[in-house]
Amino acid sequence: MNPTTDVTPTENLVTIMTERMATLTRTLSIWMQEQPHTLAEVEQHVVRLFKELGATLVAGLCSLAVPADPAPSVACSCGQEAAYQRQRPAQVTTLLGPLSIWRSYYLCAGCGHGQHPLDAQLQFCAGSRSAALDELLALLGATQDSFVQAAQVLERLTLVHVSATSVRDATEQLGRLLHAHQAPPHVEQPPTPAPRLRSTGSASRLYITMDGVLAHLHERGWSEIKVGCCYQTRSRVDRTRPEQLDIRAHSASYVTALEQAQTFGWRLWEEAVRRGVLSSDEVVVLGDGAHWIWNIALTHFPRAVQILDWYHASEYVWNAASAIWGEASEKRARWAHAQLDKLWESKVEAVLVELEQWRESGEAVEAALSYYREHQGRMDYALYRARGMQIGSGNVESACKQLVSRRLKQAGMIWDAQGAEAVAVVRAWLLSERWEEALALRGVRSRSYRRGQAVEEQDGSEGKRQAVAEVARAAETVHGQAGRQEMSAEVLAQVRAELAEQRGKNAWRRAGSVKRQEQQAA
Ligand SMILES: [Zn+2]
Repeated sequence: MNPTTDVTPTENLVTIMTERMATLTRTLSIWMQEQPHTLAEVEQHVVRLFKELGATLVAGLCSLAVPADPAPSVACSCGQEAAYQRQRPAQVTTLLGPLSIWRSYYLCAGCGHGQHPLDAQLQFCAGSRSAALDELLALLGATQDSFVQAAQVLERLTLVHVSATSVRDATEQLGRLLHAHQAPPHVEQPPTPAPRLRSTGSASRLYITMDGVLAHLHERGWSEIKVGCCYQTRSRVDRTRPEQLDIRAHSASYVTALEQAQTFGWRLWEEAVRRGVLSSDEVVVLGDGAHWIWNIALTHFPRAVQILDWYHASEYVWNAASAIWGEASEKRARWAHAQLDKLWESKVEAVLVELEQWRESGEAVEAALSYYREHQGRMDYALYRARGMQIGSGNVESACKQLVSRRLKQAGMIWDAQGAEAVAVVRAWLLSERWEEALALRGVRSRSYRRGQAVEEQDGSEGKRQAVAEVARAAETVHGQAGRQEMSAEVLAQVRAELAEQRGKNAWRRAGSVKRQEQQAA
């Protein structure tokens, strides 16, 4: 590091910022004295101007990361050296609005791969949005009623204008990443934890519950999004009803996906492992009568206590009571309460005997009979209560509303499958209080530049053209292999010739190289 080249840019920035701050204060003072303003006007005005000042400071700070004397070459991923070309601006939209960052551009003559080392260091993609802005977009995109509304809220809060499409992109991008992170292991794999899984806690009793909720999709019409929930409980004696334990869920975490039960089973299992299912003393699976729920329980949680949701079980009693006695009859409720008392005390057999007598009364009685026969082994409610277990699957039902219905089932909404799933997944991580973890998974942003584009950008007004080209190329180019394949011998020769010409023109190249070698040796 050369201290003299280091101090100057810093001092330059200090001077620029100081002067701008002084100008700003003067302008605002005149504006204030010209006519009376309210506090709201003053603060809005100041916030807007400070945002612009902030953008200048951010761009200025980033420019400090560019060495005054750029290295003549950097390593290319192909194994060859990429030669320094020139400084190029990158447009990036940040929390402080759009700004330009200048950085060194290197091109590998061998494979045609271009790179900006600063982009990798600052972890941003030219022509894109910053990670900090993307976080807010995903947060608002998943939690506001629509992407349009999210863009409006963002603009009110940060004064940064983005399109609803950008909000959708950022939200779905994060959702897809999180979905892939929780991707189930190969379905043939035996139920042992994969190496990357580590249990983050052991619960003496872990509840696992699952349910499905419909969303309207373009491709498939109304389709079921599955939701799974793992949680623990805390019990306390209710003061008003001391004979009953008040059992509350806590530390709930959620998984959700638009997929077949078999795949979803693995996804939920993986989450249960993370939640300590392998080291917990007791596992409880709670659900309604859907077959896929109990298939997953059998396959992945064979030692779990299976409990049929009490409220679904009660519903069949009430439907049967209506069929037998009619909605208006007083006997309806009396009969229903008598049956519920029996179910409450685990006397399922007695309820079955009673229902048998009313078989002729209609389909609802038949339905109750087959439901209770099928789930009899999951209806030992007296035992579950005695062991202080929760017998209602309200947690997962509420999760279905929170993850899916509230956001995806607004009036008239029709989704594409991937988008619906991605948004539900982002909501699941939020609700699981795993937001920081989700953000950390985003990793390093990078973008590759192929030779063809680099040549095209060498002439003409650079900044804007480059920004447009980079925005238009939303799909990132494949680095390395594809670049090599597309480079013909003819183009390669042309590149070499151009580089040789530049080498002659740039006197600094040799000097810089020697200086750098000396510095590195020192
Ligand atoms: Zn290369």
